[in-house]
Amino acid sequence: MSQGRKTKQEKKSPKKVAPSKSMVPVLERLMEKEVLFTPKDILSRVRPTPMIETHMPDDEKVRQITEKFTEIMTILGLDLENDSLRKTPQRVAKMYVHELFQGMDKRNFPKITVIENDMNYDQMIVVKDVSIISTCEHHFITIHGLAHIAYIPNRRVIGLSKINRIARYFSKRPQVQERLTKQIADALSYVLDTPNVAVYIDAKHYCVISRGVEDIDSTTATCDLRGAFKEDMKTRAEFMTHCRRVASR
Ligand SMILES: [Zn+2]
Repeated sequence: MSQGRKTKQEKKSPKKVAPSKSMVPVLERLMEKEVLFTPKDILSRVRPTPMIETHMPDDEKVRQITEKFTEIMTILGLDLENDSLRKTPQRVAKMYVHELFQGMDKRNFPKITVIENDMNYDQMIVVKDVSIISTCEHHFITIHGLAHIAYIPNRRVIGLSKINRIARYFSKRPQVQERLTKQIADALSYVLDTPNVAVYIDAKHYCVISRGVEDIDSTTATCDLRGAFKEDMKTRAEFMTHCRRVASR
């Protein structure tokens, strides 16, 4: 998935789904039933990745990166006439624009709706072992790990796969793990309208594995505990018990 989706949603927000006229007796309840957010709305509440708006179409980005990567490979002394290498610059360019860094384009933000917490669920919800595959912005090498993401509902709940999708979206940017952790928490806290969110990521950085110290076993853990997860010791301990068994694989 890549560019050009769902721009028509980007008007005012958050939007409540319009209730049917035939259901006036439950109008008020329905009004609160489902809230749809636009990418622009959510992203304005999330701490930014350092980016400059280029307004360059994706095709042009691919064209220019292909050209520059051809130069890099040539400087390294690789033979671009070789069958195996000929298309590498274009493959790399497409991979950056359409795959690894698709999270730089707000049009690729997943569709997020939340619903009223009808069942008054008031305990912790933990989505465990969420795959994190991102790219270190210092070396442009893979970061690979797992996240545990939790919240305690207030008046809204979210479809569980949406949490994975939010984590995936912010992973598809050049990242530092600290910012990735906080961006996921910012987005969730906003759409769920609660400070009670927690994000824990344990990841391997391939810039530590394949270069530098070349340590294949060390992992990095980051955490953003908010609201009750930060202040209430029991809640914090319960969440951290879930986290203890996270290990990057
Ligand atoms: Zn790095």
